[in-house]
Amino acid sequence: MSQDRPDAAEDSLVFASEAAAAGRGCPPWTILVVDDEPDVFAATCMAMRGVEILGRPLEFVHAASAREARALLQSRPEVAVILLDVVMESEAAGLELVACIRNELGLKKPRIILRTGQPGYAPEMQAIRDYDINDYRIKSELTRTRLYTVLTSALRGYQTLAAVESTRHDLEYLLRAQTELLSANTMPAFAVGLLERLAGLFGAAADAAFVSDGRRAQDAEDHRRRVVAALGRYADWSWRRLDAIGPCPEVRVIELAFSTRRTVQGECGLAMYLPSRTGADAVAFLGAACATARHAPEVFDLFVQNTAVAADGVRLVERLRDAAYVDGLTRLPNRSALAETIDGALRVPPDGPQRLLLIDIDQFSEINETFGDRIGDALLRGVAQRLMAQADSSVRVARVANDTFAAFGPQDRLVPADWARRLDEPFEVDELQIALSASFGGVELTPECGSGGELIKMGYSALKRAKQAGHRSVAFYSHEVATEIKERTRLLHGLRAAFDQQRLFLVYQPQVEAASGRTVGLEALMRWRADDGRLVPPDRFIPLAEQSGLIKDLGAWALRLAIHRAVVLGEAGHRLRMAVNVSMSQLLVPGFERLVEEALAEGGLPPQRLEIEITESVAMQSPDIVLPRLAALKRLGVGVAIDDFGTGYSSLSSLEKLAPDRLKIDRSFVLGLEAEQGSSGIAEMIIELGRTLGLRVIAEGVETEAQRQRLVALGCHELQGYLFSPPLAVDALPGWLAGQQT
Ligand code: C2E
Ligand code: CA
Ligand code: CA
Repeated sequence: MSQDRPDAAEDSLVFASEAAAAGRGCPPWTILVVDDEPDVFAATCMAMRGVEILGRPLEFVHAASAREARALLQSRPEVAVILLDVVMESEAAGLELVACIRNELGLKKPRIILRTGQPGYAPEMQAIRDYDINDYRIKSELTRTRLYTVLTSALRGYQTLAAVESTRHDLEYLLRAQTELLSANTMPAFAVGLLERLAGLFGAAADAAFVSDGRRAQDAEDHRRRVVAALGRYADWSWRRLDAIGPCPEVRVIELAFSTRRTVQGECGLAMYLPSRTGADAVAFLGAACATARHAPEVFDLFVQNTAVAADGVRLVERLRDAAYVDGLTRLPNRSALAETIDGALRVPPDGPQRLLLIDIDQFSEINETFGDRIGDALLRGVAQRLMAQADSSVRVARVANDTFAAFGPQDRLVPADWARRLDEPFEVDELQIALSASFGGVELTPECGSGGELIKMGYSALKRAKQAGHRSVAFYSHEVATEIKERTRLLHGLRAAFDQQRLFLVYQPQVEAASGRTVGLEALMRWRADDGRLVPPDRFIPLAEQSGLIKDLGAWALRLAIHRAVVLGEAGHRLRMAVNVSMSQLLVPGFERLVEEALAEGGLPPQRLEIEITESVAMQSPDIVLPRLAALKRLGVGVAIDDFGTGYSSLSSLEKLAPDRLKIDRSFVLGLEAEQGSSGIAEMIIELGRTLGLRVIAEGVETEAQRQRLVALGCHELQGYLFSPPLAVDALPGWLAGQQT
C-alpha cells in the first residue's frame, strides 16, 4: 500500500489500481491433452504434478479422439493450451482438428502444441502459420523440464491474448457506452446511463449511486454534494444530499474518493472519481457485488477519463438547455419549456382533462415603473414562490413572459379562484407592502390543439379578454372568445382613430347638495360616438384604453378639457367643483401629480375646484403606490373621492391613511335602499363611516324620489343620478344650470 494514502477510514480501503495489481483468486490453467494413447495423458499429468505456471496451478483434461476433443472444447472454452497428437484416427486427424478449432469453433486464443511419435510427420510450414500453431514437438522430446518451458511460453502467449481480447471487448463496450451516454441531455439521465453501463462492465446488478459536487461550480445554487442518480439497493438516495444520508461505509468511500481525487476500492464497493473541468467533480459508486477490479487498470483509467469528459459535455448541454428552458429570474420553466411539456401531453395524454391557465399580474408594468426593477423582480420571485406553493406534482408552473405566469395540469387543480387566493396577501419587499392581483386566461387541452405553442396562444387570447374586463378577471378560451378578441381589437383601432380625429367628447353629470338640491359639482364622463353614430359606452372602451396604454393620453386630454370647462362655467357664474375619473394606470404614470399641477396652471383653475375620483379597489390595491400619489395631489389642494365605495376592501386604517375628501356610495347600494333592508344597511354604514372619519359622502345613481328621501334622512351630504340629471352634453349645460338657479 502506498504511504500517501490519506486518512483511510478502514483498513479495507485500497485504491483501485492497487487492487487490480494484487490479482485476487487464481483458478487453474486448463490444459487439454488430445491423444489416442491413454498412457501419454497419464505421463503428462504425472510429469507436471504440483507444478504452478505464472502463479496458477494446472488442470489436465483428456480427449482420446478428435471428435471427443471437439465436444470438450465446446463445453470448456476456458482451455488455454492444447497438447495435440498429430496422428490419431487417421494421419490427418490432428491437423483437421486444428482447422476445426480455429475456424469452425472459432477459438483463437488457445495455444496449440502438436506432438507426434515419429519425426517424419512434421506438418508443413504453411499449416503452422495458417492455424496459429505454437509449437511442434516429438513426444520423446517432452521431458518434464522441456514440457514446463513449452507450457510456460504457451500460457504466457495465452495470457497476453486473453488480456488483449478482454481489453478490446471492454473498449468496444465502453465506446458503445460512451456514444449512448452522450445522447443524455440532463445530468440525471447521464448518471443513470453511466451507472447501468458501469454495472454492465463489471457484469453485475446495478446497485449504484452517482454523486455530484457543486462546490467548485460557479453557477451551482447549492454547493453541497448531492446524489444525482441512484439505482438498486441505493435507490432511495436519489436527490438527497450526501451529508444527509448519514454515516455508512459507502458514504465514507465516496467522501474519500472526493477528498483524495482518486478512485477508491472499499469492501462495500468501488468509488470512481470523475474529475471535471467545469468544477462539478463527481463520484460514481458501485456496490460491493459489482466492485471487483478485474479490468486492466489502463482500461479503467481510460473509462474514467472519458466519462469525466462526457460528464462535462452533458453538464454543458444541461446548462445550455437551462438557459433555453429556465427563466433566470424565478428559476421556473420558461415559455419554451412549457410548450414542450404541453407537446408531451399531446403525444402521451395524461389521465383526465388537462388545462392551461395563464396568470397575469394586473398593472405590473406600472408597479415596476414606480418602484424600480429591483423591487419588481423581488415581487415576481415572490409570485413564483406562491404559485409553486399552490402547485402539486401534477401541475407545472412556468413563467411565460415578464409578468405572465402559467400553470398546466389536471383541470380540477387549476381552478382560477384557488390560484387568485394565493396572491391575496400583500407582498412584503423592503418594508413595503405591495398588494397584487392577477387576471386569468384559461384553455382546455384538446387533441385538436396542434401544439403547446398553439395552446399557449389560445391561453393568451383568453387572458387578453380577461384583461379587457378589468382587474381580477377570468376568461376561458372558446371560439366566441376568439371572435370577441377580434371585435375588441377592431374596437381599439377605432378608439385610437376616434381619439386622433377628436371624436371623443365629455359629458357632465351634476352633483347636488342633498339638503338644498343646489348644484355643487359636475362629474366629467367620457363619450365616444362611433362611425355608425352609436355611442360606445365607457364601460366598454375605458378598459380597452387601460389595457392598451391609450388611457394615459385619453386621461390627460379629459383632465385638461374638464378643467377648461370648469373655468368657462366659472366665468359664466357657475363656480362648480369638477370631478374627473382617474384609473390606476393613469395614477401610476410617474409624474402624474405634475401633470395635474400643469393642467391646473395652464387652465387657470384653483386646485380646490378639481376632484379626482378613483375607485376603491384601485385605492386599496397597493397603498404604497397610491398613497404617496394621492398625498401629493392633496398637497396641491386637489380633492380626492373614493368611487364605488363599498365594493372594495378598505380597512379602517388604510382609509385613515388615505384621508380622502369624499366617499362615493356605489350605485348598487343606492338601488338597494328601496328594499328597506339588505344592502340599504350598507349605504347607511358608509354614511356612518363618513361621519366617524369626518368625510363627506355622496351617493351616485339616485333614480327615485324614495331613494333621495332615504339618503337625506340618513344624512348623506350629496347626491348624483338620473333623478336630477343624466350626464349632459356641453351645449346643454348652461341651460340646465340656469334652470336650477330659478
Ligand atoms: P363611474 O365613475 O361610476 O360613473 C358613473 C356612471 O353611472 C356613469 O356611467 C353614469 O352615466 C352612470 N349614472 C349616473 N347616474 C345614473 C343613474 O341614476 N342610474 C344609472 N343606472 N346610471 C347612472 P358612464 O358614463 O357609462 O361611465 C361608466 C364608467 O366609466 C364610470 O363609472 C367610470 O368608471 C368610467 N369613466 C367614464 N369616464 C371616464 C374618464 O374620463 N376617465 C376614466 N378613467 N374613467 C371614466
Ligand atoms: Ca366616477
Ligand atoms: Ca361609480
